Amino acid sequence: MSTFLFDKTIFGPVHSRRLGSSLGINLLSNSFKQCTFNCIYCECGWTDNENSKKNSFLSCVEITQKLEEKLIELLENNVLIDNITFAGNGEPTIHPQFSEIIDETIRLRNKYYPESKISVLSNATMLFNSSIIEVLKKIDNNIQKLDCGSDELFQRLNKPNIKISLLEIVNQLTHFKNNLTIQTLFLRGEYEGEKIDNTSDEEVELWLHHLKIIKPKLVMLYPIARSTPAAGLMKINSEELNKIAIKVEKIGIATQVYS
Ligand code: SF4
Repeated sequence: MSTFLFDKTIFGPVHSRRLGSSLGINLLSNSFKQCTFNCIYCECGWTDNENSKKNSFLSCVEITQKLEEKLIELLENNVLIDNITFAGNGEPTIHPQFSEIIDETIRLRNKYYPESKISVLSNATMLFNSSIIEVLKKIDNNIQKLDCGSDELFQRLNKPNIKISLLEIVNQLTHFKNNLTIQTLFLRGEYEGEKIDNTSDEEVELWLHHLKIIKPKLVMLYPIARSTPAAGLMKINSEELNKIAIKVEKIGIATQVYS
């Protein structure tokens, strides 16, 4: 298995399947992954819980300074940026100054690239903190992960390393109403000697039920794109993803399918 880690705090702009020309911000370590999940498909590899506890974060001041320098450099070179995107080596909202960093990023975006959007890719596990919910309401693209319909599959596929249930996550996601995009990675295969599949009719029905409660403005459906830490997982083809997307559209939610 080859894993993929970002080795810089500010990276790109890179061309993103979903976000166009995207300047990335990695709020986590540049040498290991830190996350509250341990998804079996994660392109950063397995989560080491000891690493996730380390306080290796750069301060808000350091990150803001790096971002400002990069924005000035890109502007001087007439580089277009569609999105300033918080992604990187794990879960961005675990940074202890996440809210302040978003506020500073909005300030810098307005100053240098007022046409660009700000996007956050998150797994929704830190939404019990109301300040994170409030700051995410200020950004353009609040993209939260919801891969499963049942809690049983959620515990096996996303493997949270904190005590949290799928229902708790669904409840927290209702705070955003229309200001929310859900991203779902579909896969099937075998993991630890047992079948794993979030495309089954039963799982998809439960997942659709959650979507009806959460009411996102958009659902992004996508397959595995890179090698995965767990062997035995298979990429879902676009025809199948499109069939699931049709079911989402039938409940009145827009979709985008990536293949
Ligand atoms: S939430 Fe994202 S970063 Fe965390 S384990 Fe899952 S795919 Fe990897």
